[in-house]
Amino acid sequence: MVRPHPVDLEAYRRRVFSTIRRYRLVEMGDVIYVAVSGGKDSCAALALLKEYVEAFRVDAEIRAFHINLGFKTSAKVEEAVRALAERLGVPLHVVYAKDYLDIETAAKASGRPICSVCGAVKRYLMNKVPRELGATKVATGHHAHDLLAYYFKNLAGRNFQWNFKILPKVEGRGLLLTKIRPLIYARPEENEEFCRARGLPVSAVCCEYGLCNAAHAEVYEMIRAARRRDPDFDLKLIGGIVDFNLRYGRDEAEEIRRCKICGEPASGDVCAVCKLRMRLSARLNTTPL
Ligand code: SF4
Ligand code: ZN
Repeated sequence: MVRPHPVDLEAYRRRVFSTIRRYRLVEMGDVIYVAVSGGKDSCAALALLKEYVEAFRVDAEIRAFHINLGFKTSAKVEEAVRALAERLGVPLHVVYAKDYLDIETAAKASGRPICSVCGAVKRYLMNKVPRELGATKVATGHHAHDLLAYYFKNLAGRNFQWNFKILPKVEGRGLLLTKIRPLIYARPEENEEFCRARGLPVSAVCCEYGLCNAAHAEVYEMIRAARRRDPDFDLKLIGGIVDFNLRYGRDEAEEIRRCKICGEPASGDVCAVCKLRMRLSARLNTTPL
């Protein structure tokens, strides 16, 4: 396939490094856990954060953690993540989602789409696990197109407040860890090309459902169309959103409470994962699945 826009890996690397520096994503004394799914984006985030601290001799630790989702393909994905961590010389912590909730069974019991349950479990563990391991920040591989898709989805759904969280760094509070997004000004094809050029082991699928990006199809199509006239339109757009949020965003996010069952952050009395667990045990006690 001929790429409509050639990838300039040096410009990409410089752009990611300048994002890390400009928004102080890595600071002295940091212990940063990168959530590695096995895909190209989080793989690139891990490799570039590691390169950054080495290149600029920043006194910070970069570590990886991976959530084994407990699906058929999860063992293979975990294998790829283990190979990546070894290749980069990064300590890796693997957590098994099934120790907290069986995602597939919970999806059936609750009637919720598998990706919605999976997302709730990932959000829960991506905060809890690194925090308990002593992290100062958690990094993800979200790129510009992911965040543009999130922006338009929230706009269409009238969830305006959530869009204020589109930032390179979302400061933590209480039990919520600070989140950093070093690839916020990077494109998916750049991450892919970077991993390919470095020969990094990347898993082709995050799971057998393969739906992670399906909900983004319309926005990806819009971005492709806009870039035919202006190849940098995507980066200009995400840059405008970030600048707007930094200038006008107000910290009036909903009050963070503690789940009365597990003690993790929750918007109500009980967190999303404990609610799913409760529905699952209610269902198991009444109907065989
Ligand atoms: Fe989870 Fe993505 Fe698989 Fe959906 S497609 S179940 S969000 S890993
Ligand atoms: Zn809970």
